[in-house]
Amino acid sequence: MFEDVVIAGGGPAGSFAALILAQAGVRVRICDRAVFPRDKLCGDTLNPGALAVLARHLHTSVVLAASIPIDGMVLTGPGDVSVHGRYGDGVHGRAITRRALDQWLITTASAAGAIVEERTRVIGPLVTDDEVRGVRVRGKAGGEQSRPARVTIAAEGRRSPLASALGLARQPSTPRRWAIGAPASLLESTVRSDAQLRWRFARAVRASAVTVLGPMAVDVEMPGRPGLLLAGDAAGFIDPMTGDGLRLALEGAELAADVTLDVLAGRISRTRMARELGDRRRARFRAKWRFNRAMRRLVDYPAGVAGAALAARWLPGLFAQMIRYAGDCETSAKCREPVNQ
Ligand SMILES: Cc1cc2nc3c(=O)[nH]c(=O)nc-3n(C[C@H](O)[C@H](O)[C@H](O)COP(=O)(O)OP(=O)(O)OC[C@H]3O[C@@H](n4cnc5c(N)ncnc54)[C@H](O)[C@@H]3O)c2cc1C
Repeated sequence: MFEDVVIAGGGPAGSFAALILAQAGVRVRICDRAVFPRDKLCGDTLNPGALAVLARHLHTSVVLAASIPIDGMVLTGPGDVSVHGRYGDGVHGRAITRRALDQWLITTASAAGAIVEERTRVIGPLVTDDEVRGVRVRGKAGGEQSRPARVTIAAEGRRSPLASALGLARQPSTPRRWAIGAPASLLESTVRSDAQLRWRFARAVRASAVTVLGPMAVDVEMPGRPGLLLAGDAAGFIDPMTGDGLRLALEGAELAADVTLDVLAGRISRTRMARELGDRRRARFRAKWRFNRAMRRLVDYPAGVAGAALAARWLPGLFAQMIRYAGDCETSAKCREPVNQ
């Protein structure tokens, strides 16, 4: 059972990297602790940039059929401030449940040739001579087993056991934000008592138990080490305010898959691979990371949100540009509705 590549985690990043590698003829195995379809706490939106990344590698007609279009963002804040911004120009994102999206992605990766092992928890790296050479897993039967591979991709989300075990990720002291962490009754009364949230949730139905998640931020300096690459949230995460986590996760997975192909073909050495991925991630994401940090700082203060409302009123062109940038419309040449719908 020696694979070219083993991927820890079959969420969007893991499945997408597996799909790209399998399409290139690489023997790839995904290990995920869950059984798909499974739920995942998320805003359930794909921004235009994320759609474009998907469309570079597969037909998105299934996503389009299972989702509804989104034409921009609404930013609300204290004092009844509400700012509406559209992507414009016929550009859309899509709203789709993660249950459906993640199931589709992992099924598509499997159809392309990836081996998918569900109910298989990755518990740590296999390390020899200071290089990662696969993972240790605990599967359905309960015992510990090895999944050796030439390259390992860690894509198990924010709390990546591989990144933590190897000292690649840490939780920063700020920002420390949580996604809804409360009993259902407290959550519902908080929503009812907020003038802005009240109308937005007027027709909402609670579909599952309330989930607690946080602190959300994870810092990563080096996205890997010899034999290992990080992808998706495992490679770093702040919080989901700008709604671009999936675009960063998918495009980060694409970059990790590209570096993996270079390593397997001998074009990049194992000692160089993590640094190479870091360079490519910085070149692709640095401007967006800066923008996201600035946006988060802005909404930390009521005055910042009020300022955004003023900007929307008096500088609509600038505000429209910001919404398009948040939606990753600018970074992708194909951010209109994918052509292969
Ligand atoms: C509250 C919230 C709302 C969000 N809303 C949006 C949004 O609307 N739009 C957007 O673009 N982004 C959003 N995001 C961000 C988005 O959810 C993430 O960026 C995205 O899920 C990252 O994908 P991933 O594959 O890296 O990780 P994940 O989606 O977390 O997938 C990780 C996978 O690894 C598996 N796994 C975990 N541990 C192990 C283990 N030890 N062994 C084996 N498998 C394991 C899990 O079962 C899972 O399948 C939101 C995030 C949060 C927290």
